Order: sequence, then structure tokens, then C-alpha cells
Amino acid sequence: MDKQFFIPDKVTLTPLSLPVFDRANISLAVLRLDKTDQLISGNKWFKLHYHLVQANLQQSNGLLSVGGAHSNHLHALAAAGEKLELPTVALIRGQPIETPTVVDLQKLGMHLHWLSYGEFRRRYQAEFWQEWAERYPDFYLVPEGGGGILGAKGCRVIPELIKQQLFTIGWDDFDYIYTGVGTGSTLAGIVWGLGGNHQVVGCLAVPERYGVDVQIKELLDEIPVSFTNYQLKPAAREGFGQADPDLLHFINDVEALAGLPLDPVYTGKTLYFLQQQVINGEIAEGSRIVLLHTGGLQGRRVLLNRWE
Ligand SMILES: *Cc1c(COP(=O)(O)O)cnc(C)c1O
Repeated sequence: MDKQFFIPDKVTLTPLSLPVFDRANISLAVLRLDKTDQLISGNKWFKLHYHLVQANLQQSNGLLSVGGAHSNHLHALAAAGEKLELPTVALIRGQPIETPTVVDLQKLGMHLHWLSYGEFRRRYQAEFWQEWAERYPDFYLVPEGGGGILGAKGCRVIPELIKQQLFTIGWDDFDYIYTGVGTGSTLAGIVWGLGGNHQVVGCLAVPERYGVDVQIKELLDEIPVSFTNYQLKPAAREGFGQADPDLLHFINDVEALAGLPLDPVYTGKTLYFLQQQVINGEIAEGSRIVLLHTGGLQGRRVLLNRWE
């Protein structure tokens, strides 16, 4: 198992040249977490790592988790299960629909249960999990989004991946790490791994009323160190998973100008927000920024209308 899940060396740090940043004399580089693995892509690979180790230790019969019909998390989990030859089960929100993600999940051998919205909301209750645990004895239950403390722990290594590669782009240091935020466990892991240096800027892909700020504080409280060198920014625009025309144009421009494919749910919105900050003069001249490409390209097939 360790061999299959060894941190791959495909995660490169690449300079990104965009006119707005160049004019403002702000340097930008992208850590390509999307390249970790074709199927277990992006931050989900890191978030799943310790959950899979735990499932292995417990000699689990399989992996069970929850998500939506475009979920990057379920996609990564299904692929990990196939690699490890462990059965996977997903509890999916809503009426059965055939999205590119769902087609992939089925191809990867994942067993799907579709839950009504009302039933899905019960996932915060202990009885809900007891029922599914009885139905799938000795399955390892992976929390929503692969999060929690084990999810964060797997992301601790990310700052090190940046530091190791700074010399390849001629930098001796950096000022900010920008990342998209859903549950915030990736951000918590990065703050943990950074050890109190540098600033981490989390761009929220979900509306602020979801209370992710509180969730992150609780997660950081569980960590044996206390760091507060992070900020959260509202970047959800019209809502989670909603892609407006301005955003889609921006994503197309970045791909045409710099050859960088972005997902419209997380990294696209993060870079859009950052560019807006640069335009507004909110980022000091000479700043060096590392943007995390957290993956999610599988999920963009529907939003960009490219069902390849
Ligand atoms: C899940 C996901 C995130 C958010 O990660 P959290 O740890 O939940 O904050 C960011 N980017 C992509 C592409 C994701 O799939």
C-alpha cells in the first residue's frame, strides 16, 4: 500500500505569467497538485492518505463515504478503492442522474446508493451512520470530503513540496500560499505543515454562512500546535459550484494564455479572486505567491460543457 500511495514526484512548481500580475510586478507560481495521479487527483489524494492507512490497519472490508453527483472526493475514493482492491460504497445526494463523475464511479466499481435530500441531511446524526455500518459491516467510514484531522494530516506535507522546489523557479522564499477552501481541512493541514511562517490565504468556494471559519478553528484546536497565520476570503461568487460567464471567460483566458487548465469550483475562483485583489492594488509590489492547483478537473466536464 505504501508503495502505491507514495508521494509522487509529478507535483511540479511552475511559474505562471499573466498580464495583470506581470504589470503589477507580482510573481506567481502554481503547485500542480492536480498532477498527482490521473484518477486520485489534487488535494483529495493527500486528504485520503491517512484514511486509507487507517482502513488498512483496521483490515476494513471496504470504504464508504458520502457526496454529490460531481464529487471530486467520491471520484478519488472510487479510484483508490480500485487500486487497493477494496470495495467502495457511496451515499449520493439526490435523484439518480448520470453525470460524467457518476459514470466514472460506476466504471471504477463503486456501489451507489441515492438518498433523498431529507435522508441525506440525516448524515449529521449518529443513527444514520449506525444503520449504514450495520448494512456494511467493518467498512471504513470516510468523512465527507475526506476531511477531519486525518485529512488535514495528509496535507501537512504540501508546504514542504513547495519549499523543495523553490530553487527550480529561482525563488529563495515566498510570501503567500493561496488555496481554494471547501471544508477547510486542506487549509488546516497547510497551516499545520508551515509551522507559523508565511501567510496562507484560503478562498472560500462555499458561502460564508456555511460556517467553515468555525470548522477550521475547531480543526486547528485538535492540532498539537497553535498557528493563526491564515486568512479566509469570500470567493464563492454566485454560490458553491455555480459558474458565471465572467468566471468561465477568465478560465478560458488563463488556459489560452498560459496553458493552465482550471476547475471552476475551486482553483478557478481562487485565482479569479486573487487577480481581482491585484487589480485593486491590495497585494504589495514584489510579492511572491504560490497558488495551489487542488485538482478537480474531472468535475469541470459538466460546467465547461466539455464531456470528453
Ligand atoms: C475538495 C476540494 C477542495 C477543498 O478542499 P477542503 O479540504 O475541503 O477545503 C479544493 N479544491 C478541489 C479541486 C477540491 O476537490
